[in-house]
Amino acid sequence: VVSPKIDGVAIALRYDATGRLHLAATRGNGFVGEEVTAQAHRIAEIPHRISEGELEVRGEVFMRRSVFARYAGKFANPRNLAAGALKQKDPRKTAEYELSFFAYDLLGREVELETEKIEMLRHLGFVPIESSRTGKEGMIAEFRRWAARREALDYETDGVVFKVNRISEQRRLGETAHHPRYAIAYKFQGESAVTTLEDVIWSVARSGVVTPVGIIAPVTLSGATVTRASLHNAGNVEKLGLTRNARVEVMRRGGVIPHIEFVVEAGDEPVALPDRCPSCGGPLRREEDFLYCARPDRCRDVQIGRLAHFIDRIGCEGFGPRLLEQLYDTGLVREFADFFRLRTADLLPLERMGETLARKLVANVQAHRTIPLATFLEALGIPELGKHVATILARYGSLDRIRRLTEEELTAIHSIGAVIARSVVEGLARHAEEIDHLLEFVTVTPGEDAEKPQGPLAGKKVLFTGKLQSMERKEAQNLVTRLGGRCPSGVSRDLDFLVVGEERGGKKSTKHRKAEALNAQGAGIRILTEAEFLEMIPKV
Ligand SMILES: [Zn+2]
Repeated sequence: VVSPKIDGVAIALRYDATGRLHLAATRGNGFVGEEVTAQAHRIAEIPHRISEGELEVRGEVFMRRSVFARYAGKFANPRNLAAGALKQKDPRKTAEYELSFFAYDLLGREVELETEKIEMLRHLGFVPIESSRTGKEGMIAEFRRWAARREALDYETDGVVFKVNRISEQRRLGETAHHPRYAIAYKFQGESAVTTLEDVIWSVARSGVVTPVGIIAPVTLSGATVTRASLHNAGNVEKLGLTRNARVEVMRRGGVIPHIEFVVEAGDEPVALPDRCPSCGGPLRREEDFLYCARPDRCRDVQIGRLAHFIDRIGCEGFGPRLLEQLYDTGLVREFADFFRLRTADLLPLERMGETLARKLVANVQAHRTIPLATFLEALGIPELGKHVATILARYGSLDRIRRLTEEELTAIHSIGAVIARSVVEGLARHAEEIDHLLEFVTVTPGEDAEKPQGPLAGKKVLFTGKLQSMERKEAQNLVTRLGGRCPSGVSRDLDFLVVGEERGGKKSTKHRKAEALNAQGAGIRILTEAEFLEMIPKV
């Protein structure tokens, strides 16, 4: 027997010998919690009197979505509101919230089947929980069917419960100390919704990988409107068997970027993989699940991506994507050294460019002509030569020396494997000319990057919202600074962590909602509870 897991408040109702409701109590972890008899009397779907006596009915008090719609914006979710409504001291207040009740268990009657129990509850005047039946082999299909229906239901559900139908079999399976063995709950992971896949667009990353993104009909996930969903790679598009206008399950799980989990219902024409590079029109090559532009050196998006990476890594501000595209398309910046060749007069003809801005940009670039070695290496954007490897290499002397290292010498360095060594040596050789040009303008300072702060939060941006329990806001900010991080004044795309304390009235703060909205658009802000934040920092 399959039924949805209702996101509400579990309660037990006791009816006396005359069939009168004489005790209602919330059930926390199998123990009887607070008595809510007077409040239960104010819930329309809980009968005050039933035709039989001496029994206990268990179920879930919840708020229908259609009712919650009146309060949305003021409360985080129907569950919290239902819990609050049930705890109102004045039962008349409880009545105002129009709570609902689904019954799912009956104690004090001998029945043979779970389905019989449901029928009996219905007969007694309760609204039994919705349910369906399936065998072992149909469980996955049933799970998906419920997942697909989820958005259409008038109540919130976070998973489904499968129960063995025969009660004698339930007894045989018994219970562990924590939970029954005859029932199993599967949670819908992350928040998910069903929507229509309108199109798949392909873009080319700095690495040359051609990445698919699903354009979906707008749908709400965790309170944010989502219009794009990750499809990871070409192999995944094939595995999913995508078709245009298909109904798809979009899910946000673990990470922050929503992705397409599976196709609920096929659409019309199949989504084909591109046969030319979507940026430069050149040939593609396939490596396992990934498609690559076969001539990245001449590919516009790859090159713009490299320029963006370089200017960002050396810490030079003001060069957004639109400006970089213009600089590339006009031929003003085609290699890294070109940034240092820019003059104010070159920039003036560009869109949305004024004298002041042009001067500022040129000054910004000129202020970055001294670059620490590790930063310089990382900024080159060579595959496998990220921050970590760059920092290790920087300990091995000057740029000159590093450029002369062989694969064998590199592999001998602790924690640098053969794959990294080959990629680094090849990359440095391939970009030799570009590096030489750069060195006409730039001074590389040897050794480790001393300017960069050290510590577990080094270079990270951390922001707090809500009231913290373990320390004052100011203390927390000082802690972040001591550990090498920074506390910006507001939420932006490049925020690393948002630590959420206790939010007023259990409602998400403006910062919290903004971070979620940015994440829905692909930002990678990690939203932490206070406990998770404390876990992350070293014990002091
Ligand atoms: Zn290309």
